This record gives sequence, C-alpha cells and structure tokens, in this order.
Amino acid sequence: MEYRRHGVRKKFGGLDTRSGDDFIDFTFREFIYILEDIVETIKKTPNLKNPRRPQQGLWGYFHKSEIFLEARANKKILLETLIHELAHALYYSDDKRSMRERKIQRVEKILWRRFTEDQKRILSKYIPKHIVKKGPDSQN
Ligand SMILES: [Zn+2]
Repeated sequence: MEYRRHGVRKKFGGLDTRSGDDFIDFTFREFIYILEDIVETIKKTPNLKNPRRPQQGLWGYFHKSEIFLEARANKKILLETLIHELAHALYYSDDKRSMRERKIQRVEKILWRRFTEDQKRILSKYIPKHIVKKGPDSQN
C-alpha cells in the first residue's frame, strides 16, 4: 500500500501496512497521517516533565505539533508511548469530548495487542535515534 500526501509517495520498505482488521488499519492510516501531516517534530529528551506540573515525570507529551518522548525509556516503552500520544491526537477535541487519560490508556493497550509487527516496525521508524536536551517550552 502506498500513501499519497501532497504528491509524495511513501512506501515502507516492503513492510505490510495492513492487518486485515478494518478498524486497526483505519487507525494505523490515521496515525501515519498525523505523523506525516500534523506532527512537525518528535524529540527524545531525558527527564521529561509535564510543563504544567513540573514535579510529574512523563513517558510522553504531545503539545501542538511536537511529540516528546522520555529518552531513558526502552524501545518497547518508546513505541507504546508513541501509540499513546497518537491516540490522544486521534481522539482530541477542542471541547470536553476529548478522550481522557484512562480511556486513552485502554486504547493504547488494545492497539498494542492488535497492530501487526510490521505496523509496529513502521511506527517505530518515526522515533528519533538521537537525544535532544531541550524539553517542552514552558519547562525551560
Ligand atoms: Zn496520555
């Protein structure tokens, strides 16, 4: 399967983008759309904190068009966290209809079980290898 966004054809090196489950594959395509068209940067940073509650450590944080991931997390936690943050983006709404944390955690667990290994490998490609020191803005 190919993705055509702004005329760009994107292939994923022979990895299968489909699981055969319509809902999982819809969610996967939406995640790729968010990663390609909405997210501007993904940063891996050490000692990630919630800028609104600086005493609270986090695995991940999604603000505007930036995703931050805790650099000390292992590969599995990094990918689980990316899926979690993308679920926030997919189920985000400006009003109180946004899905709250506990439901997003359930969605994350379901997606973790049902995405194929290839789908997970594709999502992993978006996790940066290098670490940056700078966390979310209001943290400085
Ligand atoms: Zn969350």
